[in-house]
Amino acid sequence: MALIIMEDCIGCDACLNECPNEAISNSADTDLEIYFINSNRCSECVGSFKESQCIDVCPVECITIDKNHIEFKEQLMEKFLSLKPL
Ligand code: SF4
Ligand code: SF4
Repeated sequence: MALIIMEDCIGCDACLNECPNEAISNSADTDLEIYFINSNRCSECVGSFKESQCIDVCPVECITIDKNHIEFKEQLMEKFLSLKPL
């Protein structure tokens, strides 16, 4: 499944460059100050790392599973393999 950033994000930037899939973006397009994960690009780090890098670095533990995007490991790998650079 993809991950989701919750509203207690403090916009610290720590996760931004850790994502191997360029799935995380800041809120430049909105008035909110939280960051976002593009579920079409988040493979839960499958294909790159054993652990979700964004969860590892987040200082406020505001990243969790997105229950609206449940996917199995095979699907996550398929997604990872189909990613194109932004
Ligand atoms: S779990 Fe991995 S792929 Fe998904 S947003 Fe976090 S760092 Fe990126
Ligand atoms: S590491 Fe956590 S608090 Fe910092 S920008 Fe990413 S989601 Fe927000």
